[in-house]
Amino acid sequence: MNPSQGTELCAVVEYMFSLETLLSAFGDVEFADRLERIAFNALPATFKPDMWAHQYDQQANQVVCKICDEHIYTNNSGDANIYGLEPNFGCCTANMHQGWPKFASHLWMRSPDGGITALAYAPCVVETKISGQPVRVEVNTNYPFDETIEITVSAPQPIHFALRLRVPTWSEGATVTIGDEESTAQAGTFHTTEREWHGDTTTKLRLPMSTRFQSRFNGAVAIEHGPLLYALQIGEEWKQVRGEAPHADWEVHPTTPWNYALKLTARIPTTADFRVGSRPPRHPVCARRRAVAAESQRPPRAGMGVGAQRRRAAAGQPRRLDRSGGRTHAHPLRLH
Ligand SMILES: [Zn+2]
Repeated sequence: MNPSQGTELCAVVEYMFSLETLLSAFGDVEFADRLERIAFNALPATFKPDMWAHQYDQQANQVVCKICDEHIYTNNSGDANIYGLEPNFGCCTANMHQGWPKFASHLWMRSPDGGITALAYAPCVVETKISGQPVRVEVNTNYPFDETIEITVSAPQPIHFALRLRVPTWSEGATVTIGDEESTAQAGTFHTTEREWHGDTTTKLRLPMSTRFQSRFNGAVAIEHGPLLYALQIGEEWKQVRGEAPHADWEVHPTTPWNYALKLTARIPTTADFRVGSRPPRHPVCARRRAVAAESQRPPRAGMGVGAQRRRAAAGQPRRLDRSGGRTHAHPLRLH
């Protein structure tokens, strides 16, 4: 798509939910790769850190956000690109808050064989039952700003099940380490550890992140690193144009040059051509509001339970993954 054209915030959130639903039906790694790309890039770019203002339309190449009647859109009003309480129309005001909770509740799902599977990665705690026994899984990580993910399985009683971990298609040379045992994990697959779990067992998943180029519209290129899409940081001047703070409408104007271009030669750049910092100085996504812990517990959807999956497997239908059916306490956002 032409990067000067926009995508509605509702489309970002609803596409994430569509991918989460597709994951529960087909379990393809590529769906999760795309889900993380949207969750870690497009979604947080659509609203202010305090979530009081958001955009209706967001562009990939966005050098100014202002009220403009001579805009490229043919079906949205001139304020669709600014940050506000409900610019253009109020649908995104309602939809924007569904992105993070639905992402958190789909991080883990139950496998058809009764095990559990990590589809996407964020700090979280899963409390569930496997074969009637309580099992707790805690994920500690700074992913996607760090390549290492620590997963601790706690089982008070000995229990045998399969732990599956998604290895993204972009992660070559991934490893899974339990104690002193290290094994390789193939990109684009689910790595399976099937064993008896008892007490606390920590699994260390390392997902090496390379820097990659992608061809885009009209000869453009995008630079990606792991699940992150790189962008030039432009200085910002926020101008309040309507309403009153904190639920006001804002234009954002550039204060630093933005008209740079990458000079590409015939040789395709590789990871060696980049110097990559290990971690940003602070988390770029940061909700600066008081928050309360949230719990979700929902019954399995009709037709998506383990019994239905076994019937599908018996009928030769595609492998399906299901929600874990337990509680998920997730905190993908750092809350202060
Ligand atoms: Zn909308």
